[in-house]
Amino acid sequence: ELALRTANQRMEEFLGMVSHELKTPLTSIKGNTQLAIRQLKSNMQAFERIIGLYEATEQQSRRLNRLVDDLLDVSRTQAGRLELIPGPCDLREIVHEVLQEQRKMWPGRIINLEMSDDITLSLYADADRIAQVITNYLTNALKYSEADRAVAINVQCKGQQVYLAVCDEGPGLPKDELERIWEQFHRVPGIEVRSSSHVSQAGLGLGLYISKTIIEGQQGEVGVQSTLGIGSTFWFCLPLCSANKAEPI
Ligand code: ADP
Repeated sequence: ELALRTANQRMEEFLGMVSHELKTPLTSIKGNTQLAIRQLKSNMQAFERIIGLYEATEQQSRRLNRLVDDLLDVSRTQAGRLELIPGPCDLREIVHEVLQEQRKMWPGRIINLEMSDDITLSLYADADRIAQVITNYLTNALKYSEADRAVAINVQCKGQQVYLAVCDEGPGLPKDELERIWEQFHRVPGIEVRSSSHVSQAGLGLGLYISKTIIEGQQGEVGVQSTLGIGSTFWFCLPLCSANKAEPI
């Protein structure tokens, strides 16, 4: 009975948080659209302001989309239906694509890349899902650290594995949180968003859980090293495969 009560209480807290997180972008979308209509009616020359309003609206819809995607993914993992579509892919390309997109989202932030160009990084994996994990690590690193702090991606091969790590100089995590952060809906008390792009603000505590499910579903491992007050390094490793044989080694 106690377990049931605790589960109900967690669900209630979660629903409260979800409604709040979904409502914030919705309110902004509604407000921007109403303002744009009013501007259009009153002054046909106000194009620049209207473009600004629609750009903000688009960013909020993207944010809403990400929240809904996370919720869908988590309900799929619970039903054992998170689909992974593996194929031959190159981690180097995936990293470059994610980086290009994130640099656009976070202009002014320093995101360093340490990845040797003379090794092949062939994987037999679901490229879109791997991109989702890197994006999640990277947006967490960016949003939980101050805007003047650099973030780095480090990629290296170790034997038949490739390791990717995202390092930040954010708040760091207490030891007893290092396991719990991978649980669904878990957010560390006291850790606040310190800088935000319009798309990546507070989340639902689902990104790391989904990332772990994706990586472990492809024979990989995830982990974190963190020191309170210094920063965190979130990493994953995946098996490499030979470039001309689309099979894991
Ligand atoms: P969220 O969408 O809330 O960021 P995640 O599952 O991605 O969900 O992360 C879970 C929690 O772990 C976050 O709410 C935050 O408290 C903590 N966390 C994740 N990444 C970092 C980081 N790089 N630095 C400090 N805390 C982090």
